[in-house]
Amino acid sequence: MQAAVVERPQPAAQHPLQLKSVATPALQPNQVLLKVRACGVCRTDLHIVEGDLPTLKPNVIPGHQIVGDVVDGATAQLALGARVGVSWIGGIDGTCPYCRRGQENLCDSPTFTGYTVDGGYAEYALARRDFVFPLPASLDDIHAAPLLCAGIIGFRSLRVAGIEPGERVGLFGFGASAHLAIAVLHSWKCEVYVSTRGQRHREFAAELGAQWVGTEHDRPPVELDRAVTFAPSGDVVIAALSSLRKGGIVAINAIHLDRMPQFDYDRLLWGERQIRSVANMTRADAHDFLRIAGEIGMRPKVTTFPLARANDALAAVKSDAVNGSAVIVI
Ligand SMILES: [Zn+2]
Ligand SMILES: [Zn+2]
Repeated sequence: MQAAVVERPQPAAQHPLQLKSVATPALQPNQVLLKVRACGVCRTDLHIVEGDLPTLKPNVIPGHQIVGDVVDGATAQLALGARVGVSWIGGIDGTCPYCRRGQENLCDSPTFTGYTVDGGYAEYALARRDFVFPLPASLDDIHAAPLLCAGIIGFRSLRVAGIEPGERVGLFGFGASAHLAIAVLHSWKCEVYVSTRGQRHREFAAELGAQWVGTEHDRPPVELDRAVTFAPSGDVVIAALSSLRKGGIVAINAIHLDRMPQFDYDRLLWGERQIRSVANMTRADAHDFLRIAGEIGMRPKVTTFPLARANDALAAVKSDAVNGSAVIVI
């Protein structure tokens, strides 16, 4: 099969992905083999191919927002030809203290799709049978793909931030995750305040119904109940924190931050404000979010790339040149 492989992590501009012919993976017990239809591009893919995250599997095939058809390993519950999604969490041990507590997103021995095992920048991919998700029938392949990480983890961020219906919520950064989260927030009747770099992202947020839109240097005109940060920047976390009311919560949706600056505890954190990080996702997050996405008719904005241009897709995500989500069509 054709696959995009990371032979050596390097900057996106230097084309870290090699398009190669590799062996189609062999089915193992409790797995399904998927014929990949589309695979979303996530900022985490960039951290993997550029080496911000350590290499855990040499020559890995990235990609963890996979839409594919079951072509082998079908069961009575999961039929041959069923269209399913695969996300970042590709498996857990089920036995560690976190799994036993029902916090499978914090599992001590997780499998990460497209990082510790091969992912979906390829014609075929393996997935654990209990870690594939049914997809809303209303969404075609390219529009379903971005829901699988950007969407699910964005949704988890809203949960971690403790958002209640009708609250004032800040989104700091407006990329793939935020543009899906805003649709969920509107369905909860929240007012959404967006602070982001880039004129195009601000116009996009306004188009999607943000109450207020500003640059990364502007502060929302009201105190926020909750905030979610999407940029890999500690300065953005501080900007979000300084916009909160007492008792407010900022959830950081980033697997990697450049650094965390010093900040004034008395002014910014005291008053029971909280900073929380968002780590991975649970299967319940996936099922709940995909159900809501189907109910509200969520339709992500996507830009597609053929597999042969996977490096261009990564470079576009890196330079924020994509409004919405980049998706590789196989
Ligand atoms: Zn575990
Ligand atoms: Zn992701």
